Amino acid sequence: MHTLVLATTNAGKVRELASLLAGIPGVHVVMPKDLLGYSPDVVEDGETFEANAALKAKAVAALTHCLTLADDSGLEVDALFGAPGVRSARFAHERATDSENNAALLAKLGAMTAPDRDEALTARFRCAIAIVDPFGGGEVHTVDGVCEGEIVPHPRGASGFGYDPLFQVAGTGQTFAELNDAEKHAISHRGKAMAKARLVLEKLLLAREERLRKLEVHE
Ligand code: IMP
Repeated sequence: MHTLVLATTNAGKVRELASLLAGIPGVHVVMPKDLLGYSPDVVEDGETFEANAALKAKAVAALTHCLTLADDSGLEVDALFGAPGVRSARFAHERATDSENNAALLAKLGAMTAPDRDEALTARFRCAIAIVDPFGGGEVHTVDGVCEGEIVPHPRGASGFGYDPLFQVAGTGQTFAELNDAEKHAISHRGKAMAKARLVLEKLLLAREERLRKLEVHE
């Protein structure tokens, strides 16, 4: 088994990533806290999801010396010129809860969500996943996924996390929070990024096994 560290503390993301990774044979998923005894705080000061995912994956791989996967994701609303974007987790304030962020988003959109508004408030979720194998050269492998949709004026549904109750997926008439896990994974930004990440992981694991075989031959 190869240990894979998930470099995130967001409970909603941990649950989704663990379920998306469950089907990959030979991978044992752990949290940084399981190895270090604490959850490292990585400063996410990148300007893009890719940059922040790379920052988290590199920092946690350097601390744990293990294969590490980090997800940086968020919501871009066109009427807000791409906000909350990389600040999605901290939109209301630095330590905001999901409901505070949702309330802040609706307040900011204010009049734009009036019932007589006929244009949709188009938006998208983006997810960048970075993977680092410290024993495979330490290179950062980044993949991404996007899911288009629109912001609804009132929260709908009880599943998921974050902005899920406010995000209606294009062409479905349902918010992410009205979908079950499997339905969300099939169309979400994270599901799409993880489908690509899975191919990267499979290549990295094959390369690891090849290196281990060579070491055994030389012993
Ligand atoms: P990060 O941990 O800095 O990547 O922040 C991600 C933030 O984006 C979360 O706290 C959520 O507010 C939001 N977000 C990312 N992915 C999702 C999702 O799948 N559903 C709802 N909100 C999400």
